[in-house]
Amino acid sequence: MRESTLPPIFGEYKNQVKFVVQRTNDEYSSTCPSCGDMGHNWDNSRDFPDRCRWFLKGNPCGWCRICNNLFWPGKVEGTKISKSQIQEWRIELERKQEQAIQKSLNSLKILNDQHPWVLWHQQMTVEQATYWSEEGIPRDWQNYWLLGYLAEKMVMYNGQSYRVPAYTIPNQALYSKGHRNGVLNIHYRLVGDVDIGRYRYEKGLRQNIFYTRPDWSPGERPVAIFEGAKKAMVVRARTNNDKLDIISIPSKTPPASLLEEISETYRHGVYWCLDPDAYDNSREFASKCEHGRAVRLLYKADDWIVKHGITGGQLVNIIKKGELIT
Ligand SMILES: [Zn+2]
Repeated sequence: MRESTLPPIFGEYKNQVKFVVQRTNDEYSSTCPSCGDMGHNWDNSRDFPDRCRWFLKGNPCGWCRICNNLFWPGKVEGTKISKSQIQEWRIELERKQEQAIQKSLNSLKILNDQHPWVLWHQQMTVEQATYWSEEGIPRDWQNYWLLGYLAEKMVMYNGQSYRVPAYTIPNQALYSKGHRNGVLNIHYRLVGDVDIGRYRYEKGLRQNIFYTRPDWSPGERPVAIFEGAKKAMVVRARTNNDKLDIISIPSKTPPASLLEEISETYRHGVYWCLDPDAYDNSREFASKCEHGRAVRLLYKADDWIVKHGITGGQLVNIIKKGELIT
């Protein structure tokens, strides 16, 4: 998708929205003039939030699916749109969302049928396994998470394709009846050329919670939430504590649906441990959880352990003292 601008008819909103893209001939999407830009993955330049939809057909207007506000062109003149028209647009939009979900489920099924991450794990050389060890994840945990290495990952950037090596992290689904249950996505850590970005996810699949213990029932234990799967894995691997669950979200600005999922699932102590530059995000997300806390970290969690020598146990003690928000 290519960043665009709102059609002229919505000109009065153009300074209030970001990440405008054209979705179809007569629909655009963007952040919301009213409730903002949460949901955009800032680490991924190709991610465009589908938060507010701008409809050109019929009586043009914008509609935010999060705050449910409608945005009319020429507000001052008081353009009127019938309820039935709005209802029609909503049904149309829901139909499209349903199609997108089906498409994503199909992609997920194909991925799981092929399970390429198993091969990428099995084929890791000593050198590649050493990379993971040096990043803070010992061999037995590499096996548990099936971490791997892919010599040539095809990556698109600015309309061009590149082939670069990548370290691979399967985002495992929660176990089903005590057994592994496939993946929800795959995280790729690109090696080399930083110009094309450092991370990618599996195309066409939504970004999910990364569970460091997919064999545990989510919500039974207090949970510490980090930014990015690697940090969560390093903390898990270095923390001998079966009473604390550790998960991660893809970035400091996760989709609103992920935040909802977390606040609905985890209710017995939710410790937000985002990177030091995102303490305000931690506080904000904690405010939406039951027993939410924000933890101020001195360094990124994995760096703190690997480069600065704090032990997992010490880090957990700091986490427990996180600021109580709710
Ligand atoms: Zn909104």
